[in-house]
Amino acid sequence: MDLLNTLVDKGLRGESPTREEALAVLATSDDEVLDVVAAAGKVRRAWFGRRVKLNYLVNLKSGLCPEDCSYCSQRLGSTSEILKYTWLKPEQAAAAAGAGVAGGAKRVCLVASGRGPTDRDVDRVSQTIAAIKEQHQDVEICACLGLLSDGQAERLREAGANAYNHNLNTSEATYGDITTTHTYADRVSTVQRAQAAGMSACSGLIAGMGESDEDLVDVVFSLRELDPDSVPVNFLIPIEGTPLAGDWNLTPQRCLRILAMVRFVCPDVEVRLAGGREIHLRTLQPLALHLANSIFLGDYLTTEGQAGKDDLAMIADAGFEVEDTGTTTLPAHRADVGAAAGTGCGGHGGEGGGRGPCGEAAPADTAPAPAEVGTPGATPAGIGAPRPTPAEGGTPRPTPAEGGTPRPTPAEGGTPRPTPAEGGTPGRAPAAAEASRADLVAVRRRGAGTDLPPNA
Ligand code: SF4
Repeated sequence: MDLLNTLVDKGLRGESPTREEALAVLATSDDEVLDVVAAAGKVRRAWFGRRVKLNYLVNLKSGLCPEDCSYCSQRLGSTSEILKYTWLKPEQAAAAAGAGVAGGAKRVCLVASGRGPTDRDVDRVSQTIAAIKEQHQDVEICACLGLLSDGQAERLREAGANAYNHNLNTSEATYGDITTTHTYADRVSTVQRAQAAGMSACSGLIAGMGESDEDLVDVVFSLRELDPDSVPVNFLIPIEGTPLAGDWNLTPQRCLRILAMVRFVCPDVEVRLAGGREIHLRTLQPLALHLANSIFLGDYLTTEGQAGKDDLAMIADAGFEVEDTGTTTLPAHRADVGAAAGTGCGGHGGEGGGRGPCGEAAPADTAPAPAEVGTPGATPAGIGAPRPTPAEGGTPRPTPAEGGTPRPTPAEGGTPRPTPAEGGTPGRAPAAAEASRADLVAVRRRGAGTDLPPNA
């Protein structure tokens, strides 16, 4: 297929496809899905070999969030029977992190529910980072604490956080349908704060929330502009007790097309296969390793993942290998920027540092081949420019207090969307999603109401 040959050539040069080419990847048929995986797999292997980086989630604080993200079991008004607890003590978090490191994780992701941390919370997390690094000197720490205020990113960086995660989740146009208590611009701003403080930025998306192909391409191109070092691709886990509980909009083939599109748009970036892989990709999970070079090991924040030993077996059976701590995840041209910034894991170099946005390559005649990467390309004018915050003239969607209309939860009198099995038809989901087999899958919760221990 000409499209795929073109995208492989571009990906090997570190260039992104056009928006139309990215849409065309999502529009390929199920008959073509192995061709798409094979093509994107060439790009993945060129930049990351057959290595798979393992990441491990530790939920420092669970539930009771005042925000209303529709996909989240910890949201305001959630009736999900999840485990709810306040901050883990540093030694508890360190013990949990140790389990992940023992399983092969080279990054520990410290997550806390809430709009954003207080300065006292930053102190707590700083103590937790110290406790983990005392036992596991080489482990990468990524903090995920919500929206950051002035100075907090710098304090986390000084405390030893290598990276900061804050996902864009969905396109700017649809963001207000998913969350009303904060804005897309707020999220962009926090990612930029983390980058400016010298942390490696991690920012990704959630697919399967009823978005269109155009929305998916929008959010991935927005991520390319933001230039994170890692892009987690989540597939919606439609947890009961949340407004999106009935949204089973994905097929395994569509998940593969989405991952391939992300790989083509961000060829030299850590693409992480994240939440929902088990329930949406199901028996096709191993194919996704040809596209993503990173996964979470074991469970998610409030839902059960595949057992860690099964993750390791899947990686080995598919012919991949777990990335060790001595190996730098990112290609040299990106990792060198992080090294210069002192993040130690290929972080963003803060102001004006390094290569352009992910996939924005040097001119064709000077672009390094993957095997000889190391020459940073220039940042094209207009690409990577920060989106305007509200204070700068951006236009966030109105909050409820401002007249916005959030979708009510069932507990609030809202009507949950019927599942396909109940006769529901996903709103803006593509035609292929209609073949989704919700009857084959189930969300399994961890914590309260279950006999499953928390990952943390
Ligand atoms: S995603 Fe984060 S901010 Fe949104 S409701 Fe969940 S815990 Fe709160």
